[in-house]
Amino acid sequence: MRSQNVTLPEARLYIDGKLRGASSGKTYDNIGPWTGEVVGQAADASAADVDEAIAAARRAFDSTDWPVNREYRFELMKKYRDLLKANRDKLVQIARVEVGSAIGAAARAQIDGALNGADGLLECFPQVTWEEDRGLRNEYGFDTKRLVVHEAVGVVAAITPWNVPLYVNIGKVVAALLAGCTVVLKPAPDTPLMGSIMGELAAEAGFPPGVFNVVTSADPAMAGEMLTRDPRVDLVSFTGSTAVGKRIMENAAPTLKRVFLELGGKSAYIVLDDSPNFPMVVMGSMVVFHAGQGCAYPTRLLVPRSRYEEAVKALEMAYAGFSSKWGLYDEPTCIMGPVISKRQLERVMSYIEIGQKEGARLIAGGKARPDKGGGFFVEPTCFVDANNSMRIAQEEIFGPVLVVIPYEDDEDAIRIANDSIYGLGGAVFGSTPRALAMVKRIRAGALSVNGGMSITGDLPFGGYKQSGMGREWGREGIEEFLETKAIGIRAS
Ligand code: NAD
Repeated sequence: MRSQNVTLPEARLYIDGKLRGASSGKTYDNIGPWTGEVVGQAADASAADVDEAIAAARRAFDSTDWPVNREYRFELMKKYRDLLKANRDKLVQIARVEVGSAIGAAARAQIDGALNGADGLLECFPQVTWEEDRGLRNEYGFDTKRLVVHEAVGVVAAITPWNVPLYVNIGKVVAALLAGCTVVLKPAPDTPLMGSIMGELAAEAGFPPGVFNVVTSADPAMAGEMLTRDPRVDLVSFTGSTAVGKRIMENAAPTLKRVFLELGGKSAYIVLDDSPNFPMVVMGSMVVFHAGQGCAYPTRLLVPRSRYEEAVKALEMAYAGFSSKWGLYDEPTCIMGPVISKRQLERVMSYIEIGQKEGARLIAGGKARPDKGGGFFVEPTCFVDANNSMRIAQEEIFGPVLVVIPYEDDEDAIRIANDSIYGLGGAVFGSTPRALAMVKRIRAGALSVNGGMSITGDLPFGGYKQSGMGREWGREGIEEFLETKAIGIRAS
């Protein structure tokens, strides 16, 4: 079955407890990345719809017991998680058709990763401290009993990207709702249904009106601009590009909103000369999973100059072996499909051109492949003989492009890894004590030693430097949505 035979249901808005179309009646085309053709329709929210969603979220926060009724929230969110899990097959289908995931990536990272993430957040909820007794203190001649209380920030705008939309939607929405906030979710225009289904399942779970709202719109900026400027919104949680992240900080400044930003990355994958299975580990650095569209994906491979030729040979073999294994819609083991959109394809292709002009050497890929099915296909691409000052080593490409850079010694590897405006993820392979010592010196938020998982629903995730601020997921991801209040009770 080819994806053009699949029509997805219409993505609807979810506002104040109601699933509905846009007030204007407008819809827009949902384009499938495998074919470049229309696979469904999505409600195109107007400014009036966004305004209504913000008003509903504000009302639910200010005039219901949602922010204070923790037991109720916990039970409801467990029910919601169970409903998400019960709809796994539908979610996998959306990830394949709308997001363009190959089955091997859709099931694992896109959907099971997101559902496991919801489990992780629910496991962390009981660990949150809501009230602390800070004891008595005598000051100014009398005793005061002190409490520190943690409570929900308020109305949250969750603005999410298209690359792993369910994962990011859950990371923000489930955490913010568990914290007692109310939420307006604005998914990326490219992946409206993965946002809309969150609203549908919330309606099915029986969420109180206004607690959670979803607005889909064709215009990438309109709803986001409104949400980030509106004084009724207290916190903006954003995942996407660094450029838009900066814009959001600016827009949030006049009303001093809290901002959580999870932005771009250009993470390093460092292989040490004492790494067991050196060629296999090098092969594992291929940027192919989900066509490289992951923010924490280590897209710079750093290999010791002493074993550079061996590494290049291993990569040549690995890419040659992979050349017939990607872009297969029906193959369960396939992990790489198209990129999300024509715009993204053009962006990736422009970087491939830049890399060649900069003097890096292509050992695999480099071409767009519309012959694969009419959609937005870019070959798995690998540049060697790169250096870290090239644009392809500094800028986020967000496509299936690996950049290989030789280093002299451990110090040099750390220097190169840190020579980036970004600091999101990274990986080091080698003897464990040496690799651990290295990751501790890399200025990034999620580091893996010898393939260990540093990104799971119960661990905090977020960036250093221009990869963002704040943490989502884990206990920290719930606490991100809490305010801290000090209370002094006169005791003598
Ligand atoms: P983007 O940052 O433009 O979009 C992310 C989200 O922000 C979308 O929901 C979009 O509609 C919204 N948005 C756009 N303009 C806005 C504004 N002015 N105010 C508020 N919200 C706004 O990302 P993109 O255009 O979809 O992709 C461009 C690049 O971003 C990619 O090539 C990639 O490098 C990067 N990206 C990073 C991540 C990540 O997880 N860090 C995810 C997707 C894309």
